Amino acid sequence: VDRPRPLVAGNWKMNGLMRSSAKVLGEVHAGYTPGLRARVDLVVCPPATLVSAFAHMSVGTRVGIGGQDCHAKESGAFTGDVSAEMLADAGAAYVLVGHSERRQYHKEKDADVCAKAVAAHRAGLTAIVCVGETREEREAGKTLAVVRKQLRGSIPVDSNSHNLVVAYEPVWAIGTGLTPTAADVAEVHAAIREELKRLVGKADHAKVRILYGGSVKPSNAAELMAVENVNGALVGGASLVAADFLAIAGAY
Ligand code: PEP
Repeated sequence: VDRPRPLVAGNWKMNGLMRSSAKVLGEVHAGYTPGLRARVDLVVCPPATLVSAFAHMSVGTRVGIGGQDCHAKESGAFTGDVSAEMLADAGAAYVLVGHSERRQYHKEKDADVCAKAVAAHRAGLTAIVCVGETREEREAGKTLAVVRKQLRGSIPVDSNSHNLVVAYEPVWAIGTGLTPTAADVAEVHAAIREELKRLVGKADHAKVRILYGGSVKPSNAAELMAVENVNGALVGGASLVAADFLAIAGAY
């Protein structure tokens, strides 16, 4: 019915120097063939130092570029931070907000994540809002409650299917090689879709992309991407290798 167009995003984290990374991006461009382009959107989120160069290199390729975080304010005395407007100015169209590494290492709370998503929208960027439970929370049976609470706290009221993407990333699955079962992913994504009905509105909620992230690789992509309400992937480690990233996108 209203199946959203899939989106596969690569989160390079704090990896990538100009010379070697330009080569990887070039391979991604070359592998994003018309056949693949017809089926799936591709986004690369390099470190902030590479956003401008990557955006320039990607003009005309339909590969979107995203930041990995942004400050909530437009400008000011915030040494070391990067605003959403600066990312947009550098050519980004997306920004990750609320990644678990930001929540963990920078103590970001849902309200902080929401403010960053508001900033992304203000700057004309699509916010990729990340949520997900820890291992302890899953073992305690709190997964759905945790994810619902994060969504309610992190998603701005002006969100729609153009300016919002949700990424479900179980913290225990990130960088560990562990993944939830297809049934577990289906359960969480269904709960996210239901929550979006209230947060985004009835008209548009079905078109919001909900990505799965956490140890996605070519060997498990087809199974995970086939799950109901999984509209793409957020890929960490495997996105640093163009052939793997493209193979994951090719699961669609
Ligand atoms: C991530 O950090 O967004 C992620 C999904 O990492 P990985 O694919 O390496 O588990």
